[in-house]
Amino acid sequence: MDLTTKKDIDWANLGFGYVQTDKRYVSNFKNGAWDEGALISDANIVMNECAGVLQYAQTVFEGLKAYTTQDGHIVTFRPDLNAERLAQSAKRLEMPVFDEKRFVDAVEQVVRANAAYVPPYGSGATLYLRPYMFGINPVIGVKPAEEYQFRIFCTPVGPYFKGGAKPLTIKISDFDRAAPNGTGNIKAGLNYAMSLHAIVTAHNEGFDENMYLDPKTRTKVEETGGANFLFVTKDGKVVTPKSNSILPSITRRSLLVVAKDYLGLEVEEREIYKEELADMAECGLCGTAAVISPVGKIVDHGNEICLPSGMTEMGPVTKKLYDTLTGIQMGRIEAPEGWIHVIA
Ligand SMILES: *Cc1c(COP(=O)(O)O)cnc(C)c1O
Repeated sequence: MDLTTKKDIDWANLGFGYVQTDKRYVSNFKNGAWDEGALISDANIVMNECAGVLQYAQTVFEGLKAYTTQDGHIVTFRPDLNAERLAQSAKRLEMPVFDEKRFVDAVEQVVRANAAYVPPYGSGATLYLRPYMFGINPVIGVKPAEEYQFRIFCTPVGPYFKGGAKPLTIKISDFDRAAPNGTGNIKAGLNYAMSLHAIVTAHNEGFDENMYLDPKTRTKVEETGGANFLFVTKDGKVVTPKSNSILPSITRRSLLVVAKDYLGLEVEEREIYKEELADMAECGLCGTAAVISPVGKIVDHGNEICLPSGMTEMGPVTKKLYDTLTGIQMGRIEAPEGWIHVIA
């Protein structure tokens, strides 16, 4: 297979949108077992009008990127953790687990089959992979589906920060994201469906993102709709919220390792109170798409908390974390064992 010829795409000006690619992976679960799976060309899914996913939102997903490293390899970043997290998500929604080794193999198959869409090194663009699974047989009485489909498609996406990372302004939301014993710690479409009204509201008010608090006490920081928080304290500690209802971000977990082992910083995963925000030096949002988006201002019902790092650039520690993790991902800095999964 030729893995070097590329599609004629203006990589630098790609946005974050769906671009249909050549192949996707599909496996079906029926009669208690997953079939052998295959790469197919058809991007459309035909299902019964009463499919479980359409009625009761029984669906979970993942997101990861394939990209070209400095030395020309096509790689993904810690796909084993996506496999593990999808398994956790599936269990919580009473769905069958897709074998974790098969998950990684399916990722490899999709990337190889769409190698022409993996952006070149230095373009800033990546190939975003979306693994997901859903209940597909008719379900009308509320219960788990009996048949499922697992899919992975991919779509090329442009550089997240065009012309530099501009710090975000976020609001403390009056909406809640996840109940204390709910589904906030799994990657399920249902968490996003209910966040749409909150994010549209925030955007209409001129904010970039929502900061959700813990619904029980409304005193502790949880996360945004799709990214974990990372803070730097004024004495240079890296702290992230600890809670059972936030999604365990692979980027955030990786950044904590980078902070400790590469930058020699003190790191802490603990409850972070809203009252502490005014004492923070830097704030960032962590997720696969951007790695870290800097936050410049947090607004709590008219009360503005301006991070000392300001509204023009990333804070210095955030920048070091960002540069080190992206350096590791792109092969410019030696990676911890097992982080870079070479596909071609
Ligand atoms: C996917 C996701 C994240 C980021 O996780 P990564 O593994 O770093 O991409 C954070 N919060 C929520 C709610 C998410 O769905």
